[in-house]
Amino acid sequence: MKDATLALHLGYEKDKEKSMQVPIYMTTAFEYNDTDHAARLFNLEEEGNIYTRIGNPTTRVFEKRIAALERGIDALATASGMGAIFYSIANLIQSGDNIIISKNLYGGSITLSTQTLKQYGISAKFFNPAKPDELEVLIDDNTKAILFESIANPALTVPEFDEIVKIANEKKVITICDNTIATPYSVKPIELGVDIVVHSASKYIVGNSSAIGGCIIEAPFAKEKLKTSRYPNFNKPDESYHGLVYNEKFENPFISRARLALLRDFGAVLSPFNAWLFILGLETLHLRIKEHSKNALEIADYLSKQKEIKNVNYPFLKNNDNYQRAMKYLKYGSGIVSFELESYEKAKEFVKKLKIFSLVTNIADSKSLVTHPASTTHQQLSKEELKNAGIPEGLIRLSIGLEDIDDLINDLKRAL
Ligand SMILES: *Cc1c(COP(=O)(O)O)cnc(C)c1O
Repeated sequence: MKDATLALHLGYEKDKEKSMQVPIYMTTAFEYNDTDHAARLFNLEEEGNIYTRIGNPTTRVFEKRIAALERGIDALATASGMGAIFYSIANLIQSGDNIIISKNLYGGSITLSTQTLKQYGISAKFFNPAKPDELEVLIDDNTKAILFESIANPALTVPEFDEIVKIANEKKVITICDNTIATPYSVKPIELGVDIVVHSASKYIVGNSSAIGGCIIEAPFAKEKLKTSRYPNFNKPDESYHGLVYNEKFENPFISRARLALLRDFGAVLSPFNAWLFILGLETLHLRIKEHSKNALEIADYLSKQKEIKNVNYPFLKNNDNYQRAMKYLKYGSGIVSFELESYEKAKEFVKKLKIFSLVTNIADSKSLVTHPASTTHQQLSKEELKNAGIPEGLIRLSIGLEDIDDLINDLKRAL
């Protein structure tokens, strides 16, 4: 079956009530038939429901659908996108290891990698996703993951997938791609050879700013790398499960360990109610991402013709640095557009005059949003620091919604 059909039907079998929508199993625990049944579930001899921290039937439908859309063999839902990114790294590392991260990453992923993980003995090195040849020398025996985004937030960099995957495969290092902005309808990183895909479901998957959540998806071939001596977590017995070896027991060792060890012990589990909102979101994602991208390209085009504006950034603009890679790898450009006004004051004035765009530090809503990083997210930085972070004082980021394009352009025109 094709994506739109999978997104609407996969993984849900109606019970006797014949509910058209997937039921929300809002429960912490599930009853066992008897103590033997309970023992078999705990020993992983039989599959079934135990406790919502390690699995829930509503959440399972979301996991099955996103795994299918990304061409993975399995998925794990988490309480947030950051939860998904943390688990996907934590699954691979031990104290003393390092990871290699794209220099164009979501801010939270950068602080996680360079600050918080450092306190647990993990170091991070940067690479340029558009020119990844330097990976070759950055990878060492303790490198456990390469993390990058399919369309970087907020830089909008499109990575040179083929080159990253080629080097990572030669060295047998796991690649993790954050596909939040692009979504599986623009690119399926697993089809390009990426081992693990992560999402913040809080963005385009839910699509309307109603819930926080995330997910991790495992490629069918990730196990090939997990079997090497680089990844002892998957080849040594787990004493907390009576000596279980994840690679021996499972065809999906990455997701199995993330669920059975990390979700069990760290506990950043998705609420079944939020899983249900993500199921609703997936029903229309294919239509929405097309419209977001169409509106965004029209707006990027309009902005690049205005003389007050410098440096409009959108991957599918012909003069953009990412254009060649966008044409090669992406089907849609997604809904994020950024550009520069002359000064801090001009940017503030522009934001104030907008009527349809809301000033919010978020993206990927069905409603259009605007951010001025210099006065909000990066407000603590000095002029010098802003410059180093690559954030001009007049930078504006738009997240283009699903409103009528004429109204959006008129709103921008008035504000300019
Ligand atoms: C928002 C975002 C995250 C973090 O997701 P949360 O659900 O807010 O924790 C991670 N990666 C990217 C690319 C994002 O845009």
